[in-house]
Amino acid sequence: MSTSPEEFFGELNQDAVSILNLISNLSSKEMIGIMDYQNLSTWWCDRARDFFKLSDNVIVQEASEVYEMIHPEDLDKFKEDLTNHMHGKNLEEPMEYRVLTGDSSYSLFTTKMDIVWDPDGKPKWIVMLTENHGISDEVDAVTGLYGEELFDQRVTELVNQEKKPAILKIAIDQFSHVNVMYGANYANQVLSEVAYILRLAAGKKGLVFRLSGAKFALVFENMSEEELERIYQFIQDSLSDHLAIQGKKAPLKVSGGGLVISHSQMDSIAIRSHLTYALNHSHHHHHGELVVYNDEQATDFDDNLELISRIHEDAVKNREGFYLCYQPIANTATGKIMGMEALLRWKGEPYGVVPPGYFIDWLEEDPCIFELGNWIIGTALADAAEISKTYPGFFVHVNIAAGQVERREFRESVMALLMKSGLAPSQFCMELTERVREMDMKFLRKEIEFFKGLGIKIAMDDFGTGNASLALALDLPVDELKIDMSFVQDIQRVPVKQAMVRAIVDFANNTGVETCIEGVEDQEVLEYLRQYQATWHQGYFYSRPVPIQEFKKLLEEENI
Ligand code: C2E
Ligand code: CA
Ligand code: CA
Repeated sequence: MSTSPEEFFGELNQDAVSILNLISNLSSKEMIGIMDYQNLSTWWCDRARDFFKLSDNVIVQEASEVYEMIHPEDLDKFKEDLTNHMHGKNLEEPMEYRVLTGDSSYSLFTTKMDIVWDPDGKPKWIVMLTENHGISDEVDAVTGLYGEELFDQRVTELVNQEKKPAILKIAIDQFSHVNVMYGANYANQVLSEVAYILRLAAGKKGLVFRLSGAKFALVFENMSEEELERIYQFIQDSLSDHLAIQGKKAPLKVSGGGLVISHSQMDSIAIRSHLTYALNHSHHHHHGELVVYNDEQATDFDDNLELISRIHEDAVKNREGFYLCYQPIANTATGKIMGMEALLRWKGEPYGVVPPGYFIDWLEEDPCIFELGNWIIGTALADAAEISKTYPGFFVHVNIAAGQVERREFRESVMALLMKSGLAPSQFCMELTERVREMDMKFLRKEIEFFKGLGIKIAMDDFGTGNASLALALDLPVDELKIDMSFVQDIQRVPVKQAMVRAIVDFANNTGVETCIEGVEDQEVLEYLRQYQATWHQGYFYSRPVPIQEFKKLLEEENI
């Protein structure tokens, strides 16, 4: 039986209803509810009634109906908070929980409560202010997990409250392949399944967050490295073995970086950098085994941390410490320098010059790589334009990160930078590394085709490393293969390397693709490499990477 709001409020003035509705409408997100403690019926403002599709403003809701809408991970906490609040406990702490608001999407809600007591000291009215924070950034619509922003907030909170957070960052390796091979629908199902397993792994002890792409984080309080390792083991086992989607077995390989903070006060940038660093190490050097850091580790680790923060700050703010060095690219037939590759450096006291090996892995994963990348391209183009006044046709190669290509504005900024420099597109070559090739192939091909359409050259860097096969690589319309220097080290003594270099160069020559052999360190190797007839050579023999002024001198000396 339904009650009218007038009956519900009884002795309250009828205007109260209108006033409360008005108040709720004045705010953009907040919804007002008032519960009669005697019979547990609740009056909800019009907005809440419409939002939750309630049959009436005043209703008695079954607890189970409410619980069904709450995210399973939040349910226990929700019940506990509700009980506490209804007894007047912890009222100063708002309840926070995710609510199913669409077919499969969750929104983040917070509810503040307070109680109007009757003269005998019994609760009379429970007043609730519920805010819908939306599905936009805070909650990931695919997995229902909290998003990146809340991850930062949560971790900062735990650090500030000295609750000793332990964090596990997990990435699914080569997830873009799942997307390409099976489509976005299937990929989303995989992500939901992964989210489920991660929630299982976190249990009641931790919270799970979805970070960008196919990356996740689990956050715990007060957990040892050993426990973190056990949890990671469980995740690894479950994902490599037990996962089945649409009846198909879908073994996934993951990498994991961990961080246990028990003493120090780290800021969120340091925490992020650290996790990315650990995750990259796991991926590139430990075949996906967990790499965990704690804040008690050696002091050079702290140095490292400070260095990372400094470099990050420079990258985001004014690029103060950054500059470019250039290394010659020489024609193999004539030995003449015809172009150069731009290589990033960072310099700052007390560290001196820091090569990119120390920072490029995590920097490439940080959103700031886009702006920094534009600065690199702009600077390299301007320097090359200057040189090409004296040496017409002189070209410049620039290394490009996945984080640049995948941004919608990338095309525009490259075109604008090229226009500004006055350099011809054919004098500009973008080098793509293995990390770029892990992107969605369809998308990558489209981007490459676009830039080639403008006349810009594309080279595939570090060719022969990683797991890109010749056929797969040549599936992309590139102009040049840069043969990784690991093939050159010791080549005179290792027949397999000789065969590989020969195969790559022959294959490229036959398909009209140019080649560059990297790591030519001395005369002896140079002489030996001539037989392969690659198009270009690059290496310390010609010069180490040097700042632009020195590079110009080098050119002058060569051309005297
Ligand atoms: P890479 O693109 O393969 O660059 C070649 C690296 O080999 C450079 O290291 C260069 O100094 C080094 N090298 C050149 N000749 C020789 C040689 O004869 N012998 C030996 N042993 N080494 C040689 P560097 O400058 O430390 O750069 C390392 C990597 O960092 C680069 O590898 C590239 O992947 C990345 N990187 C550098 N600059 C940038 C940049 O501006 N943007 C991006 N996204 N990545 C960059
Ligand atoms: Ca390169
Ligand atoms: Ca290379």
